[in-house]
Amino acid sequence: MEKGGEECLAHCIILPFPIQGHINPMLQFAKRLRHKGIKVTLAATKHLFKTMQEYSGSVAVETISDGYDEGGMASAESGEEYLARFRQVGTQTLEEVIERLKNSCCAVDCIVYDAFLPWSLDLAKKLGLVGAAFFTQSCAVDHIYHHVYKGDVKLPLSDSEILIPGLPPLKPSDMPSFLYVHGSYPPLLKMVVNQFQNIEKVDWLLFNTFHKLEEEVIDWMAKLLPVKAIGPTIPSMYLDKRIEDDIEYGLSVYKPITSECMEWLDKQESDSVIYVSFGSLAQLGKAQMEELAWGLKLSNKYFLWVVRTSEESKLPKDFAKETSEKGLIVSWCPQLDILAHKSVGCFITHCGWNSTLEALSLGVPMVAMPQWTDQSTNAKYVMDVWKMGIRAPSDENGMVSRETIFNCVGQVMEGETGEEIKKNAIKWKELAREAVDKGGSSDRNIDEFVSKLVHS
Ligand code: UDP
Repeated sequence: MEKGGEECLAHCIILPFPIQGHINPMLQFAKRLRHKGIKVTLAATKHLFKTMQEYSGSVAVETISDGYDEGGMASAESGEEYLARFRQVGTQTLEEVIERLKNSCCAVDCIVYDAFLPWSLDLAKKLGLVGAAFFTQSCAVDHIYHHVYKGDVKLPLSDSEILIPGLPPLKPSDMPSFLYVHGSYPPLLKMVVNQFQNIEKVDWLLFNTFHKLEEEVIDWMAKLLPVKAIGPTIPSMYLDKRIEDDIEYGLSVYKPITSECMEWLDKQESDSVIYVSFGSLAQLGKAQMEELAWGLKLSNKYFLWVVRTSEESKLPKDFAKETSEKGLIVSWCPQLDILAHKSVGCFITHCGWNSTLEALSLGVPMVAMPQWTDQSTNAKYVMDVWKMGIRAPSDENGMVSRETIFNCVGQVMEGETGEEIKKNAIKWKELAREAVDKGGSSDRNIDEFVSKLVHS
């Protein structure tokens, strides 16, 4: 098929769940597909599209509706209501887009849908299209949810160790919080388990990970399902440097304070700065923010801390002023540029899957302070499997004290433990690059996906 002289081998719709941590990896995957000659159209909810006004990326965009065009998810009465309405209105409006594109030069062949939106697979099958579920969390975490779906892990969890094939023995506190904290966020628990509700119909399960990172669990899951690791979906410019059209990471919901951060980092010594961020959603309690603040001060190291505007009031009074010689506090930053900067020697992170993968792929040792959802499982892997950092232990109230923060930072940045972690960090950085580089495991998996699509 030809369009404007450009060859169209096949056409994929990419449908992310409209939150930062899902849009970025799916958009980056879209760019990798484009690089291999596949036409890609991002299906964005109308509300998301409004926040994308500055988006000038190369991936085409069509809008659909989640039923909340004005206020988006935040305007729904509950998570359950949002998901139900998205399912109903999303199915209808996505079908309309796909029907309309039938009359263009390049009809849609495949829906790559966020695994949080399994109704998209029903639509793909109704329309005779290929359906590929895209998982934005780790393979280990989704393997756990799959076991819950199948009834092989029973809830509520008992206090004993949990043994799941392909995973290290897990304590209940290593499990995703929706399972571990009984009764927490029931609609979200239902959503993550329901990712598997119609999985027998799926053509592909695409994971934002790479084979060497989660070898055992990927191989286990691949015995049951058509699993492919296609990550890390970090822009090529930070890894294999093969795709030029890659300046933009994704769609920033917040505006990054770029030049101030970079100029400040340029002034610091190699591996000397602690970067601190808890992602786009996590909310620390005021007391925990204070412990973190005093822990940073106690460390006497330089730090760059992302405190979103909504969290600012939780900082101790005058903290920014008092520590202005050592610290820079910003409301949002270009995280990949920060992690890639030579001055950054440690990342205090909530262990969101994107942040974890970004730190691994850019070789930055971590102090893990998981807050909720999949973060505790990611933290377990960071410390015990990949040995790329330390999980900061919390007290019986879930609080990480200032002394603990001071100790963990010291262990990660200094001494024998620090050296061992740094050695591993360099190893994982190299393995991540290899996976997406030409002929690497993820690159070959994307080639296989593309080839089957083109010849289906
Ligand atoms: N991020 C960023 N600037 C910041 C903080 C975070 O660009 O100041 C990006 C980060 O690089 C990552 C995403 O926001 O890609 C956060 O995703 P993650 O899965 O780590 O956490 P979530 O926000 O979903 O909890």
